[in-house]
Amino acid sequence: MNAAAPSIPSTAPAVPAYPLLSGQKALVTGANSGIGRGVAMAMGQAGADVCVNYVDGDEAANAVVAELLGLGVKAFAYQADVSDEQQVAAMFRAAVTQFGTVDILVANAGLQRDAAFHQMTLAQWNTVIGVNLTGQFLCAREAVREFLRRGVVPTVSRAAGKIICMSSVHQEIPWAGHANYATSKGGIKLLMESLAQEVAQQRIRVNAIAPGAIRTPINTSAWNTPAAYRQLMTLVPYGRIGEPEDIARAAVWLASDQSDYVVGTTLFVDGGMTLYPGFATGG
Ligand code: NAD
Repeated sequence: MNAAAPSIPSTAPAVPAYPLLSGQKALVTGANSGIGRGVAMAMGQAGADVCVNYVDGDEAANAVVAELLGLGVKAFAYQADVSDEQQVAAMFRAAVTQFGTVDILVANAGLQRDAAFHQMTLAQWNTVIGVNLTGQFLCAREAVREFLRRGVVPTVSRAAGKIICMSSVHQEIPWAGHANYATSKGGIKLLMESLAQEVAQQRIRVNAIAPGAIRTPINTSAWNTPAAYRQLMTLVPYGRIGEPEDIARAAVWLASDQSDYVVGTTLFVDGGMTLYPGFATGG
């Protein structure tokens, strides 16, 4: 080793202070069901206070809040349609009023309105693009505004804020009969990457998770009979369906300083679905 070489101190995060998200404030959209619910609970288990967004299903939202409060973190439910500009702005104002700020956005809310392309109505198209893509734009914009206002608070996190966009393997895999959904997820990919590039200098980290097949109400027919499950497994090299907790753990890591150098990346959590399993035996 050259004795004259300057010693450059490490810029990597220090040893983690557990729990990973202690003192942070998270807003999770679509958090009263499926993946969003799992993410909200995992954020709470990691020490974050959580705003539980939902559009309908007061009872389910209140149940998530009750479970979070039982963990000893703060939580409240907020009903807002993520595709509505005014409602999204009001939701962020409510979160800042309740918690003081927002450190983490998980833009998770999403839906499907499937149809053969020649039968797809404009309403089906607009609903999916409105919630899945425009909803992510509206929520991310409010989050970035809050992160820029507050800046970095080193005792809380090395970043001024973190955004996690819930995408899908269908940001890569075309999906016949679901053109609106696949388009929305493909859009999320470049929305996430463009935003990540734009705000990284302000120490805002934007990333995405692309789940494969996860056991939630959005895709019940794909797993709720043995025949459907067997058929699904032909697409999943790892041989099991994913659970919301599989996604939730990835979200906690992406929101924490443990992933401080991860910027503009899509983390595929899919049991290998994007490995083209049809080619496993030579194609
Ligand atoms: P889910 O149906 O259980 O949950 C969807 C959530 O979004 C619900 O809480 C619903 O109320 C909420 N939502 C719908 N429209 C909304 C609106 N206008 N405003 C606010 N909230 C709204 O489904 P899920 O599987 O948990 O889906 C969550 C996300 O994960 C979606 O973005 C979905 O595309 C994505 N995803 C799911 C899978 C899977 O296999 N389950 C795979 C890839 C991606």
